[in-house]
Amino acid sequence: MKSINPATQTLIREYPDHNSEDVEEMLERSSRAFRDFSKTSFDQRADMLNQAAAVLREKKEQWARLMTEEMGKPIKEARAEVEKCAWVCEHYAETGAQGLKPKKIETDATNSWVQFQPLGTVLAVMPWNFPFWQVFRFAAPTLMAGNTALLKHAGNVSGCALAIEEIFAQAQVPDGVFQTLLIDHDLAEKVIKDRRVHAVSLTGSTRAGRAVASVAGQALKPTLLELGGSDPFIVLADANLEKAAKEATRARCLNSGQSCIAAKRFIVVDEVHDEFIHLFRKEMRALKIGDPTDESIDIGPQARVDLAEALHEQVKASIAAGAVALMGGEPSGLGPAFYPPTIISRVDPGMSVFDEETFGPVAAVIRAKNTDHAIKLANQTEYGLGASLWTTSDTIQPLVDAIDSGHVAINGIVKSDPRLPFGGIKDSGYGRELGEMGLHAFVNAKTVADF
Ligand code: NAP
Repeated sequence: MKSINPATQTLIREYPDHNSEDVEEMLERSSRAFRDFSKTSFDQRADMLNQAAAVLREKKEQWARLMTEEMGKPIKEARAEVEKCAWVCEHYAETGAQGLKPKKIETDATNSWVQFQPLGTVLAVMPWNFPFWQVFRFAAPTLMAGNTALLKHAGNVSGCALAIEEIFAQAQVPDGVFQTLLIDHDLAEKVIKDRRVHAVSLTGSTRAGRAVASVAGQALKPTLLELGGSDPFIVLADANLEKAAKEATRARCLNSGQSCIAAKRFIVVDEVHDEFIHLFRKEMRALKIGDPTDESIDIGPQARVDLAEALHEQVKASIAAGAVALMGGEPSGLGPAFYPPTIISRVDPGMSVFDEETFGPVAAVIRAKNTDHAIKLANQTEYGLGASLWTTSDTIQPLVDAIDSGHVAINGIVKSDPRLPFGGIKDSGYGRELGEMGLHAFVNAKTVADF
């Protein structure tokens, strides 16, 4: 497995894959570790998570630089990612015991309750875009619940994958409780089918979700899928346009546009369409693109050259179908993985940037006739992850109810928060991470009725 710095295109390091014998040993270790780890107390697990948070913070710069080097994230965002990982560890250290304690339920039995026991070993298949955060948001509640974890990370961020294993080891997490597998898809399939693996969590594309869930489904193993998105950013006639344009830029361009919950389709009602575009363009123009290790940079390279190329194909196809590039739309001369902030207007359903997920700093602007039309366009997608709604109206509930997504942010951007459940509907996946639901993602909810 090769890690290539996307900004410079230099080879950082090659990592040898684990082979079948390595994987067999790791599965055995995981299974053995579960026997003791599942019996540890909540206090013991909370101590480990707090220690993991401390290790993250102590070496924040080291972890941040590693992410930036491997996948091109602007360094200031990489530091914020490390902080957020520490937060999710501390959050579950603090709330885990309460969320997992048995719940009493009155019935005709003398006593009845539901108790939450760990399932066993959970395999996490993770993407490169938030190479630390995606793993920690899975691992913190999963370990707090007493499970053991195996990580199969994306092939281009093996350095991050091994660093996370090291962080848990430094946090005194017992041997075998969290292990990183450097494996390809074929070996991942064998791991999913293995009797020592009890569930799978996948964050990644819809294509990967289908492939992994079908293997897990054959083996009757539960899956949690956090997949792609094409989130609408809906601007209604009474919106605060200045604020909406500023936040639209952040919502689209965070992580150089490579976020599942990035706003991708900007649906603006006719009355304010031109004014919004004017303000949005001004904000997008102010972004600085370049070397991601430079503190002042807002947009780094895309994580791989093929991803930048695929993004450009979507832009070209949409322009050929009648859309117009108001800015950007041509690869920048900075290097093959760089793609500039781009606004495409006159976008309609049927065009690539409307129908497909755009994973990069490309904003598709769609003109809606009115509020009802805006909501209809927002829902006209296979995805259903998040949505951002901009209005100063007091009667938002009917609009919230009408939007088909797992998350609605009003006058703000969609972002994950350890305290709130996170997940999608339709082709964006199923199940919820984070919040109390995240603690219950991989447990046996055992009903006990004592007559
Ligand atoms: P990806 O290509 O789907 O890869 C994600 C992970 O799945 C990688 O570890 C990949 O391994 C693995 N994988 C893919 N096909 C597999 C198969 N058949 N068997 C076993 N493993 C398989 O996605 P990506 O390009 O890394 O990430 C971008 C996508 O993730 C976007 O669609 C984005 O929206 C989505 N995402 C969703 C969320 C969410 O919370 N909903 C969060 C972040 C990202 P290899 O690298 O070895 O191929």
